[in-house]
Amino acid sequence: MPALESIERALGARGYRLTPARRAVLHAILRHPDHFSAEEVMRQTSAGRATVFRTVRLLYELGILCRVLLEDGRLHYRLSDRRRHHHHLVCVGCGRVQDLEECTVTGLVRELSRSTGYQIQGHWLEFYGRCLSCRHSEETGGDR
Ligand SMILES: [Zn+2]
Ligand SMILES: [Zn+2]
Ligand SMILES: [Zn+2]
Repeated sequence: MPALESIERALGARGYRLTPARRAVLHAILRHPDHFSAEEVMRQTSAGRATVFRTVRLLYELGILCRVLLEDGRLHYRLSDRRRHHHHLVCVGCGRVQDLEECTVTGLVRELSRSTGYQIQGHWLEFYGRCLSCRHSEETGGDR
């Protein structure tokens, strides 16, 4: 997970300064090692709504955050060291999210484009299930 310093460097490399407001938003974000919603961050910082949304958007556009679509339809964000498009494994038991290495459906996208004439510009693909430790605690009776 990228630390504040490396995020600051990534911002600086693209000509963005870490203003006090952006720093406050980042501090709130860093409190969520797994994933968070913009609303959660908003509750945890004195920065205004617009600043939170603008900062989250900027970090997403710079590839510092990725978006995760939860099973219930909520859109969350997550600090990511993957700079490229990727997909997620989402555990519906504990809420853990794992970044997948790379996109594995490029062949499907190409084929879809060929067969329909669409110029495909993007897609969502998340995998929902139960992680190993959730499955283990189920099998052993669990403590949930
Ligand atoms: Zn789990
Ligand atoms: Zn991700
Ligand atoms: Zn993909």
